[in-house]
Amino acid sequence: MRGAVLYAPGDVRVEERADPAIEEPSDALIRVVAACVCGSDLWPYRGVSAPSRPVPMGHEYVGVVEETGAGVSTVGVGDTVVGSFFASDNTCEICRAGFQARCVNAVPMGSLGAQAQYLRVPLADGTLVATPGHPDDDLVPSLLAASDVLGTGWFAAVAAQAGPGRTIAVVGDGAVGLLGVLAAKQLGAERIVAMSRHAPRQALALEFGATDIVTERGDDGVARVKELTGGLGAHGVIEAVGTQESMMQAIRSTRPGGHVGFVGVSHGVELPGRELFFAQVHLLGGPAPVRRFLPELIDLIWSRRIDPGRVFDRTLPLDDAAEAYAAMDERRAVKVLLRP
Ligand SMILES: [Zn+2]
Repeated sequence: MRGAVLYAPGDVRVEERADPAIEEPSDALIRVVAACVCGSDLWPYRGVSAPSRPVPMGHEYVGVVEETGAGVSTVGVGDTVVGSFFASDNTCEICRAGFQARCVNAVPMGSLGAQAQYLRVPLADGTLVATPGHPDDDLVPSLLAASDVLGTGWFAAVAAQAGPGRTIAVVGDGAVGLLGVLAAKQLGAERIVAMSRHAPRQALALEFGATDIVTERGDDGVARVKELTGGLGAHGVIEAVGTQESMMQAIRSTRPGGHVGFVGVSHGVELPGRELFFAQVHLLGGPAPVRRFLPELIDLIWSRRIDPGRVFDRTLPLDDAAEAYAAMDERRAVKVLLRP
């Protein structure tokens, strides 16, 4: 089969990879209908965490089940399925508490490479959720978004305690930040402040429910959020970048007693203890337990109450994955969908 492989920073190739097969009774084999490039794929692409050998890429997927192991009971051949970027058993104590990305048996799907024609999904019963039927083609981008960026934005909004009467600020205008806006809106937030200086992304944020746009960054951005909130700071802040500047911007934009949901993969972030002590904010973040939210998200998409697929502003054939990475790296695209 064809699949994307990262050889070195800036060097993604689509090449013949071994066809995956059922290895464990809990596996499912899916034909990938749609995959995409994640903001987090750009970190190794840019050489921040470069691979020492060629690695398959991709952890977001919508597919059709081709074959199941003997132990799989919740999905069957022919089902259209969406799964999280971590396979999880969904039965251990951590999963049952709602933190499936840290399942005691978690398998990172990125290690299997979803930017490919076929994908083996471990722990299929605990990982995959079937859609109610065969999806209309225009629903596929939204279902694909549910696999990671929507689920991640949703987790961040839940962690930031988005809800009625609350002001939520969002640091980061990539796909996750934009879908954090959408999630905060769905969860009932009264005011949603999107921090962005890019006109097309501002427009999408407003479409998803942002009520205010702040173009300033760093301390100026913090000052602007405080100005909008009577000097107090937001009730909750979504951090969707993962740098020192964005994390501190999120913490400083949050009022005492407020909540920060941080889902940008941390790179070189170090929190100053004394400032954290007096900030008096709740911090919850990390890899989103997408599986916790998938049934609800699929339902919202299926009934066309949300359209998170709007974050995909380009579609390319899988064979053009190199251009997909370049376009996102150069910010020519928010998020690129790949059709195998
Ligand atoms: Zn588990």
